Amino acid sequence: MKLIFLGPPGAGKGTMAVRVADAASIPHISTGDIFRYNIKNQTELGKKVKAILDSGELVPDELTIELVRDRLGQDDAKSGFILDGFPRTVPQADALSEMAPVDNVINFTLSDEEVVKRLSGRRVHPGSGRTYHILFSPPKVEGKDDETGDDLVQREDDREDAIKNRLRVYREQTEPLIEYYRSRGKLVDLDSSPAPEEVFTSLRKILSL
Ligand code: AMP
Repeated sequence: MKLIFLGPPGAGKGTMAVRVADAASIPHISTGDIFRYNIKNQTELGKKVKAILDSGELVPDELTIELVRDRLGQDDAKSGFILDGFPRTVPQADALSEMAPVDNVINFTLSDEEVVKRLSGRRVHPGSGRTYHILFSPPKVEGKDDETGDDLVQREDDREDAIKNRLRVYREQTEPLIEYYRSRGKLVDLDSSPAPEEVFTSLRKILSL
């Protein structure tokens, strides 16, 4: 099963990708996670992309495409994968169709207002990647990770200015992919506004999992 999860930031693509990857035994490939891992470990790639991620702009296509080409070339991705956050531009989608044509594209839909609400309340435990939401899924102790008690942080790109920029970038550069895949008969829309459990149930039906 080769899947793309498309949709605005904060629509729950990552959360659903983790669950589907587990249920279908395929890798979850998040370009955002790969960039953040490199930033955290201060690799050459990380140093190159940090300011771009902090601002909510997109990393250049060539760099991102090569990164995904490498990742899809690994053994665990041969029989299937979930791409979360890639492609984000038409050139990326064209490159992907040559590398590894996908079976289905799930289009997670969510209003701008809901995106801002979800992202601005998100808090992360930097050590593990565990995420919380100050309203919808708060930690047991305010500002602290449930398991370690470490401080939670807000992602630089979850601050209000960066959220607005990410949404603008999404509408301008990524949204055209909806028509791109719809016209190829691959797109399925999924309303992301209900609670995660309900979204996952709908997703299982779509994917026959
Ligand atoms: P995400 O975690 O998917 O929201 O991605 C976080 C950030 O990583 C984005 O705002 C971009 O700066 C960068 N990024 C992730 N995926 C891509 C991509 N396919 N193309 C360009 N930049 C990306």
